[in-house]
Amino acid sequence: MKILGIETSCDETAAAVVKDGIEICSSVVASQVKLHHRFGGVVPELASRKHIEAIAPVVDQALDEAGARPADIDAVAVTQGPGLVGALLVGFCFARAWAYARNIPWVGVNHLEGHLNSLFFCRPAPKFPFAALLASGGHTSIYLVHSHTRSECLGQTRDDAAGEAFDKVAKMLDLGYPGGAVISDLAGKGNPEKYRFPRAYLDREAFDFSFSGIKSAVKRHLETHGDWREHLADIAAGFEAAVVDVMADKLILAAKTHGCGHAAIVGGVAANACLRRKTADLAADNGIKLFVPDLALCGDNAAMIAAAGCHLLGAQSFCGRLDDDVYSRVRFIG
Ligand code: ATP
Ligand code: MG
Ligand code: FE
Repeated sequence: MKILGIETSCDETAAAVVKDGIEICSSVVASQVKLHHRFGGVVPELASRKHIEAIAPVVDQALDEAGARPADIDAVAVTQGPGLVGALLVGFCFARAWAYARNIPWVGVNHLEGHLNSLFFCRPAPKFPFAALLASGGHTSIYLVHSHTRSECLGQTRDDAAGEAFDKVAKMLDLGYPGGAVISDLAGKGNPEKYRFPRAYLDREAFDFSFSGIKSAVKRHLETHGDWREHLADIAAGFEAAVVDVMADKLILAAKTHGCGHAAIVGGVAANACLRRKTADLAADNGIKLFVPDLALCGDNAAMIAAAGCHLLGAQSFCGRLDDDVYSRVRFIG
């Protein structure tokens, strides 16, 4: 079964062709980063307009690269939410019309379930049930993943998402937008012990996060250290270590608490080398096997949406209806 996946929830126009939910035939991601860079964040109206320009060529490119004709596609999976409504609508309406015109099924996918399904391109893939940290630009949560289509949220951030904290701290340090990759490159050259920023564990035994305090701590540091520009790498390393320590500890605790031998990290922040390394070390110390997607599958992409869609269509014979609509905030997961 070949599925065409489409993703337009934020500032990436993406399309992919995936076979049987596990084999990526093509995955095209057209990023709008340059467009939004000078505004220091995503401008929703500009994002929607750019998606309209990009969607048809990106889908054509995904079909071309997969060596597939439209008639070879058995179903379409598209991100339905959460995300920017205007941006979501572009991919959603395109996908629905594309499927309707060809009389094939289509399915709306929760973007977060999409991120979780990026793990099933790992060889081997994690075994259910496993604990997963989803750390991205808009969300930071820990899930107990029971199946491809059912996940239980064990805890989530009470304020900022981890990726949002990286982006906001990058802005404070005049490093531009988006900031995750820039901070992590810089942090690699710094000493994480030089400045110790607070770790917000909240309840040690629970799985909620808070990242607004560390952001304020960095702000205070800059206000009280006039020479901070000379210590950028150390500040970046100190900040990164504080965020990573809490996420790694809570993920491994979740796996242990729920008796899971497998744990995983997904979402844009899963590309962070320090998070990957520290969590892998901690997992190994605790006899847990850690799974992380390839770097190209951490950020937003349509292959993960196609994989999630494949399981929704298969397991629940679920199919979208013409009057279905997009949603901006998390409605449900699992
Ligand atoms: P959501 O998935 O919650 O709807 P999103 O789709 O915008 O949000 P993603 O594309 O999954 O988010 O991830 C983008 C985020 O990942 C940004 O905040 C970015 O700064 C962060 N990020 C990317 N690379 C890294 C890195 N190497 N280290 C830390 N953060 C990173
Ligand atoms: Mg993005
Ligand atoms: Fe995302």
